[in-house]
Amino acid sequence: MKFETLAIHGGEEITGPHKPVVQPITMSTTFEHHEGSLIYSRANNPNRMALEKLLADLEMGKAAAAFSSGNAAGMAIFQALPLGSHMVAPSDMYHGLKKQLVELFKDRLEVTFTDLSDPENLEKALQPNTELLWIETPSNPMLKISDIKVLSDMAKDNEVRVVCDNTFATPVFQNPLQLGADMVMHSATKYFGGHSDVLGGALVTKVVDDFWQDVVNVQQTGGAVLSPFDCYMLIRSIKTLAYRMKGHAEHAGMIASFLDQHPQVENVFYPGLTNHPSHEVAKKQMTGFGGILSFLVKGNPNDADKLISNLKYYTNATSLGGVESLIERRAAVEGPNTKTPQNLIRLSVGLEHLDDLLSDLDQAFQTIG
Ligand SMILES: *Cc1c(COP(=O)(O)O)cnc(C)c1O
Repeated sequence: MKFETLAIHGGEEITGPHKPVVQPITMSTTFEHHEGSLIYSRANNPNRMALEKLLADLEMGKAAAAFSSGNAAGMAIFQALPLGSHMVAPSDMYHGLKKQLVELFKDRLEVTFTDLSDPENLEKALQPNTELLWIETPSNPMLKISDIKVLSDMAKDNEVRVVCDNTFATPVFQNPLQLGADMVMHSATKYFGGHSDVLGGALVTKVVDDFWQDVVNVQQTGGAVLSPFDCYMLIRSIKTLAYRMKGHAEHAGMIASFLDQHPQVENVFYPGLTNHPSHEVAKKQMTGFGGILSFLVKGNPNDADKLISNLKYYTNATSLGGVESLIERRAAVEGPNTKTPQNLIRLSVGLEHLDDLLSDLDQAFQTIG
């Protein structure tokens, strides 16, 4: 099955006398005991089973685990690591996960943050007790690209497990497990959900080994599981994922070119631009460049804020991956300790008509000229 077909027909287990076309939502928290039956909804549920099977197949993995948020999915990995383990993570890691490592795991894990867009930095960061390499590509919010294959090969030579946050690319554009990663992590809140109305997260593994069993134990015993309704919502949204991603990427590419030539823009970060420092790596490992970009507005943070407030079709809100365009000055959201430039604007390009998106940006720039 091709991706689009799998996204529509994969996963759902449809039973019952009326033969519904869509799998019903099973709200029951418990199941009558009999041979092979489910036990309790925290451990498993028919809608979660369907979603996990679908996610595993879309990422070409062996198994998946769905969580109540992307952060809960990431945390399950950190919790499954032996106490005192060392891990390497990107300096431009999604700030919510970085916050977990810096605050919640500060006495439990040792973390080296480094710029993984240069593989030599991994070489320098590895230690004898390194257990895990965390990759995020493209990264949030700088759109840095890390070479999944090169980094995974280096990690493997050192018996280091590799997890890749694939939220920005989605399996439509990038398959980290095929490039050497051991696991993929997703914030399903973003493109999988696609309509800014579900919070969810997922992990997919290439092999079902002891570490994976530990992760599943954190999921089921820890209990940060996705509800049956949210699983249903994600399965529904994933049916259109491939088509949405193509639209997001097409629009983002055009907007990136527009911004790249704009006199009031200092710099644009989008891996599809040939002037992106890692464009060649992105081209090698992605089949599309995604729908997120960021850019530096010339002037001070107030000019950036003014530009945002004068837009009509872009909502000033955090998050990304929905059909509607969202825009924010990222440093304002990340707080006073952020290293993100103060004049950086992150844009989640939506599926409104491209002409409207471009003309809206054009008029907003004129208000700060
Ligand atoms: C949003 C996001 C997360 C966290 O996911 P939540 O669903 O918000 O918990 C992790 N990684 C990336 C790249 C994200 O954009």
